[in-house]
Amino acid sequence: MNNAFRYTPAVDIMVMVVGLLLVFLMAITYNSKSKSFRIFHSCTGLIILASILNIVYFAWIGSSIKPPTAVIHITHIAYYSILTITMALYNYYLAELVSIPGATMKRQAWAIWGSWDIGVILISYSVVRGPMPVLLSDGWYQLSEHNPFYILYAIGILGTMGLLLYCKDKMIKQVFWGIFASYILSFALMSIQEYHLQRSFTTASLMLPILVMMYLLHSTPYDRLTGAVNEENFEHMVRENYKNKNGIILMFLNLRDRRGVVQLTDEMSTDFYRMFPGMVKNDVLFRLNSGRYVEVFPKKQNPNYEEIIDNLIKAFDILVEKFHRDFKIVITEDVDFISATNSYAEFVSEVEERIPFNAYYKVTKKDIELFQKRQYILAELRDIEQNMDLDDERVEVFCQPVLNVRTGAYDTAEALMRLSLPLTGMVFPDQFIPLAEQEGLLPPLSRIILNKTCKAVKKILEDGYEITRVSVNYSIPEVRDEGFCRDVLSIIEENGLAYDKIAIELTESQNELDFEVVKERIDELKDMGIKFYLDDFGTGYSNMERIMELPFDIIKFDRSMVMESRRNDISREMVNSFAEMFDKLKYRVLYEGVEDEVDEEMCKDMKAKYLQGYKYSKPLPISELHKFLKKS
Ligand code: C2E
Ligand code: CA
Ligand code: CA
Repeated sequence: MNNAFRYTPAVDIMVMVVGLLLVFLMAITYNSKSKSFRIFHSCTGLIILASILNIVYFAWIGSSIKPPTAVIHITHIAYYSILTITMALYNYYLAELVSIPGATMKRQAWAIWGSWDIGVILISYSVVRGPMPVLLSDGWYQLSEHNPFYILYAIGILGTMGLLLYCKDKMIKQVFWGIFASYILSFALMSIQEYHLQRSFTTASLMLPILVMMYLLHSTPYDRLTGAVNEENFEHMVRENYKNKNGIILMFLNLRDRRGVVQLTDEMSTDFYRMFPGMVKNDVLFRLNSGRYVEVFPKKQNPNYEEIIDNLIKAFDILVEKFHRDFKIVITEDVDFISATNSYAEFVSEVEERIPFNAYYKVTKKDIELFQKRQYILAELRDIEQNMDLDDERVEVFCQPVLNVRTGAYDTAEALMRLSLPLTGMVFPDQFIPLAEQEGLLPPLSRIILNKTCKAVKKILEDGYEITRVSVNYSIPEVRDEGFCRDVLSIIEENGLAYDKIAIELTESQNELDFEVVKERIDELKDMGIKFYLDDFGTGYSNMERIMELPFDIIKFDRSMVMESRRNDISREMVNSFAEMFDKLKYRVLYEGVEDEVDEEMCKDMKAKYLQGYKYSKPLPISELHKFLKKS
């Protein structure tokens, strides 16, 4: 039998099903459709089409009802044309993948169209010239042509492998070997089928590279240029290492360009990727969601890790020199409690805040302790929020009495928050207020402070002491909240206290958008008798116009203003003129941080209505405030 081949549609059906599944999966899982992804997508679509055409073609040959001969020919020609263009697209895809420059890309495109045209002409000629294909016996087909596709295929696939070898250095080794192996397998499959006079596996062998690319480039965690692995895998690695107690070194790098975006250019990535192998054994490079990279290697396989770190730093120095990027590098060994909670990302960003740019930093025991304490405080804050007990014992109210200059008596005070936690004891505001604010955990704390302050004031009054009001600190985001006024009013009310016994301290907002809302809130609460203090005047960039538009009652001059005034006459004159202006406009001026007699005299000369500071009292538990108050 001359030119007779076996064919069964089973393999093509399989290819079609797998192809459809891939297309479906891609449609539902990929959000960012890069150019290379779209090429890849097209290849899959073409393979599905090819498998259908091949099934139809052989079905027609074997069937008694045939369409016109031309239709059969066209189906066959279309099948091989599609396979040819798919192969050409593989090359295009590879070129795109390794970012071959524009001019080469253009040549590549021409080569693709050229090879496709030639392929179609040759195949068409061969098909049309030959006799009609016929079904000989079950599974054996007498085909018309001496098909030139298989020669084109051999040339094409060898060309692609050549291109791959040419780009070898630009690719990470897993990707290179994966794709290379898929071509070898494809070639082997095609040769075996040729040897066995088969035609069932042609489409399938062209499907192989697609499967491999799908796995390596579009579904595995590899960053195509740096070979970095994603955060999910980083966390998995951390968990495994923690379980097996294998010591590791982690080297975090945070790179930024002028705009502060953490991203590597293609060129830099390639250099970057090449930096690690050769110096370190069994290392893995990860890319975290924040854009940081982390190079991880085991201590056991790298006993001279101290030396390795130094060498990596040196190599890195050369790299940043070349690319002019700002960076922060944090190096640490694995730490049990951080591994257990998989919180290296948080740990490193906290450490980074303390170190300057363009520095290498080896983590110390103190950094770890600080982080541990912070994590502990955070966990307690979350628990406080969860419990939402207005009498939570972990939140304590301290306060500082304020001197009324006119009467010479203490008749107001400021409530100041402290945390009292089982493991750390007393925690001061600088250690938890910014943290709570950042994590949105301030509102529950404020509610507790307000509630406890109300209770304390109530008791003070019941015990027969005189007190005009106590002020409580709030942050602007809290005030912005819809439920703010309702919350404040209901807590005061539930304690059976008059509204005017409570005041609220706010700092100036730098955000213009807050203005209208804050004004509305203040107006609403002022109507109920609650007074407002502008806190920390003189620390930010004060927008006088805005301050005047908000109906504050008392302006608190920050301690830094008091210190400035003591420095020289000019500073004092400046502070004094602010105080005089506020005084004329019927605001009352309070000086904070009055520490001695000199401060006191000076402030009194500068329109002071109220004085607060260590000279009178350090913050004390609110239960002791009565010691400063007059009996009524
Ligand atoms: P602030 O509102 O400016 O509070 C005044 C701070 O100055 C208090 O620190 C107080 O102890 C301190 N201080 C008072 N007199 C003197 C003095 O003569 N010399 C010096 N050097 N310092 C003095 P504290 O209690 O550590 O509070 C720090 C900050 O934490 C407060 O600054 C406030 O911004 C915040 N904070 C405290 N309690 C609360 C609260 O319940 N809610 C909110 N949102 N913030 C709070
Ligand atoms: Ca305050
Ligand atoms: Ca203040």
